[in-house]
Amino acid sequence: MPISYCVECNTSFWREDAENWKTRCFKCWKKKSNSPNNKLRPPNNNEVERLQEDVRMLLDERLALIDENAVLQEDLANIFQYISFLIFACHPDRVPGREGVAHEVMVWLNAKREQIRGR
Ligand SMILES: [Zn+2]
Repeated sequence: MPISYCVECNTSFWREDAENWKTRCFKCWKKKSNSPNNKLRPPNNNEVERLQEDVRMLLDERLALIDENAVLQEDLANIFQYISFLIFACHPDRVPGREGVAHEVMVWLNAKREQIRGR
């Protein structure tokens, strides 16, 4: 139903079905959008302090992620260095009785080697 009722003055007004955000008639919407409460205001001191704290926290988290990434890059380099031996050691011919899992590991190691090489 395209007819709705204003939450301010209860006057009926027309809106599309998808326009649920339209809760006021044009006159009330205009009045509210011009009110001083609806204008941009400078942040108060508490808000500024909270934002500064958020920025500090985000910078700390960013530094931690950079450190974490360096460790991961080093691990990747080590894995890449040893992966040929791991593939050799996991070859199904070398682990009689466990050929199935050895094959799965070898396939996974080969895929990881290609993935690392592609970086
Ligand atoms: Zn109204």
